[in-house]
Amino acid sequence: MSMFDYLIVGAGFAGAVLAERLASEAGKKILIVDKRHHIGGNTYDHYNKDGLLIHEYGPHIFHTNSKEIYDYLGQFTSWRPYEHRVLASVDGMLVPIPINLNTINELYGMHLTSSEVENFLQSKAELKERIITSEDVVVNKVGRELYEKFFKGYTRKQWDLDPSELDASVTARIPVRNNRDNRYFTDKFQGMPLHGYTRMFENMLSHPNIKIMLNTDYKEVRDIIPHREMIYTGPIDYFFDYCYGKLPYRSLEFRFETLECETYQSTGTINYPNEHPYTRSTEFKYLTGQKHPKTTIVYEYPKEDGDPYYPVPRPENAELYKKYQLLTAGMKKVHFTGRLATYKYYNMDQVVAQSLTLYKKLISVQGNGQQINGHKVSALQT
Ligand code: FAD
Ligand code: UDP
Repeated sequence: MSMFDYLIVGAGFAGAVLAERLASEAGKKILIVDKRHHIGGNTYDHYNKDGLLIHEYGPHIFHTNSKEIYDYLGQFTSWRPYEHRVLASVDGMLVPIPINLNTINELYGMHLTSSEVENFLQSKAELKERIITSEDVVVNKVGRELYEKFFKGYTRKQWDLDPSELDASVTARIPVRNNRDNRYFTDKFQGMPLHGYTRMFENMLSHPNIKIMLNTDYKEVRDIIPHREMIYTGPIDYFFDYCYGKLPYRSLEFRFETLECETYQSTGTINYPNEHPYTRSTEFKYLTGQKHPKTTIVYEYPKEDGDPYYPVPRPENAELYKKYQLLTAGMKKVHFTGRLATYKYYNMDQVVAQSLTLYKKLISVQGNGQQINGHKVSALQT
C-alpha cells in the first residue's frame, strides 16, 4: 500500500477543509476516514423517502462575517441567500427571538420606540459587577422576568444544567436588540449551499489525491495504513482512551415528521423554552427553499448519551479539556482541529477558520524544509 501524507480522521467541516487544501494546493496524498456511512459530519443532508431535503443531525444555517470563508466555500457550492428567523413560544404567543423591540411590544401589548425599549430593558436589568455565568449575561441585560420566560427553561432542557452553571458564552450567543431586526443572525454573509451540504462536501473531496474510507473507526486502521501524519477531528477524550475520564458532550435525539401540507409552521424555527420535552422545531423547506407538496419538520430532544454534538462550556470541563490538550502538546505528527477535538462550541465558519489556520501552519512548517534547486533547505540551515 502506498504511503499517505495525511490520515485525516473525520469527514466533517474540519477534516474536509484540510483534505481539500492539502490535496489541491499542497499536492499531498490524503486518506480521510469516518466511522459514519457518509461525509459531511454533522452537516450531512439528504433526501428522505418523500423526496424532501433534510439535515440528518439538526438544522444547519451557514452565516459568517468572513468574506474569505464565504468565498472559499463558494468554490464548491453556489449559495442560496437565506436569513433565518426564529419565534419563541412564550405566554401563549409566538414572538421573535433574539429579544428585540417587536418582542417586547408584542409580549406586553406596548408601542415603545427604540429608545423607550432601551429604557424599559434598563429598568428591568439587574446589573452584575462580573458576568460569569449564562444567567448573569441575560439577567444583566433584560432582567429576571424575561430571563425566565426565554432562557431558563430552554437552557435547562438543552444542557440539563441551570444557566448559572454554564459559562456566559453560551447564552451570550443570543443578542438583545433595541431595533426591529427579527433575524436570528446578523452576519454579513448568510446562506445555504444551493444543492445542500453533502453536495458541497462531494465537490470539496473529489480530488484524485483524496481517498475516502467510510464506516471505519480510525483505531481499526491507524496501525495498518502507512501515513506520515494524522489530523484528528473526533472527540479528544476518545483519542486518549479516556485516560483522564470522559469529557461531557451533550447529545440530541431528532424526531422527523413529514406532513401532507406545503408548509406547517410560520417560520424556519420555533423555540419552546417552557413547554414540551423538545427545545425547537424546524421546517426544512424554509432553509432549503425546496418546492414540494409535503413538508418535513424536525424536533430536537436533548439527552446525555448518544453522538457527541455539543461540548459543555463550564469551568470544570475546560480544566479536564486542558489536561487532554497538554497531552497533545508534544505530539508533532498528530494535529487536532474541529469542534470535538478542541472541545469548542464552534459554528461552522469558526471550524473552517480554525482548519484553514492549521493548514497554513502545516504548510509553513513544511515550507521551512522545502526543496530549492533540488537541495533541501531546512529552517536551521537558512
Ligand atoms: P463534525 O461535523 O462532528 O465531524 C467530525 C467527524 O468525525 C464526524 O463525521 C464523526 O463521525 C467523525 N469521527 C468521530 N470519531 C471518529 C472515529 N473514532 N473514527 C472515525 N471518524 C470519527 N453551526 C452553524 O454555523 N450554524 C448552524 O445553524 C448550526 N446548527 C447546528 C445544529 C446542531 C443540532 C448541531 C449539533 C450543531 C450545529 N452547528 C451549527 C455546529 C456545526 O455542526 C459544527 O460547527 C460543525 O459541523 C463541526 O464540524 P467538525 O468537522 O468539527 O465536526
Ligand atoms: N437559548 C435560550 N433560549 C432560546 C435560544 C437560546 O435559552 O430561545 C440559549 C440556550 O442555552 C442555547 C443557547 O442559548 O443552548 C445558544 O442558542 P443557539 O440557538 O445558538 O444554539 P444552537 O443552535 O447552537 O443549538
